[in-house]
Amino acid sequence: MPTLRTPVIGIPCMDLRQEGAPARFAQNQSYALAVLRAGGSPILIPHMADVAFLAAVYDRCDGVLLPGGGDVEPELYHERARPGLRGVSPARDRMEIQLARWALERSAPKPLLGICRGIQVLNVALGGTLYQDLSERKKRTASHDSQGVERGFLAHEVVVEPASCLHQIVGQAVLLTNSFHHQAIKRQAPVLSRCASATDGVLEAVEIGDHPFAIGVQWHPEELVAVDEAAQRLFGAFVAACQT
Ligand code: MN
Repeated sequence: MPTLRTPVIGIPCMDLRQEGAPARFAQNQSYALAVLRAGGSPILIPHMADVAFLAAVYDRCDGVLLPGGGDVEPELYHERARPGLRGVSPARDRMEIQLARWALERSAPKPLLGICRGIQVLNVALGGTLYQDLSERKKRTASHDSQGVERGFLAHEVVVEPASCLHQIVGQAVLLTNSFHHQAIKRQAPVLSRCASATDGVLEAVEIGDHPFAIGVQWHPEELVAVDEAAQRLFGAFVAACQT
C-alpha cells in the first residue's frame, strides 16, 4: 500500500432529495477536485445526528472545508424565517456548526475554509447574523445571485483589505469573482475580521487573524482553480495549513 501522507480534508455533504430517487448524501465535485489539485485528500462527510460519530470522523481530518448550499435556519441567529428562504436543512446546520466550533477551539484548532454558505455558517456559529435575502439591504446591491450562467462566470469585483491574511495569500488588492448567493453576512461575529467586500459593501470574506487558518469567502474559488491564480493560492494555502 502506498504511504503518501497528504492532509485529509473533510467536506460535509448536502442532503439531496429528488423526486423518484432515493435520498442521497451528495456534494458538487468541484470542492473535492480543488482540494486534490492543491495536494490534499478530500473526504465527504454525511450528516450525523450523533456527535460521537461525527467526532470520530473529525478526529481523522486535518482540516475542514464548509461548502456552499442552502440557507442556514434563521432561528440559529434568532430571527424568524422571511419569504425567500431556500433549502434549509437543520441536520446539515447542526453538523456544520459543530464542525466549525471544533475547528475553532483555541486548544486544538484545525484549518477551516468556508465557501459561500460556509462563510455564513462560520458567522452564525460565532454569533453573527445574516441577510435572509439581499433584498433586505436598503442600499442598492450589485448582482450577487447569478442565474443561468456557468459556474466560473465572473460577476463582480471584490476589494481585499491590505492588512488581511487573505491579501497575503492571494497577493491582489482586487479580485474578480463568481457569485451565486442571495444571502450574506449582516452582523459580523465579533471574533471575525472583515477582509474583503464587494463595491456595494456586501461582505465577501472574513478571517480570524490569530487562528492557523480560518477564512470564509462568499464566492466560489473551487470553480475557478483551473484559470485563476488567486483561487489556486487560496486552496494552496489552506492545504498547506492542513499539512502542518
Ligand atoms: Mn457576491
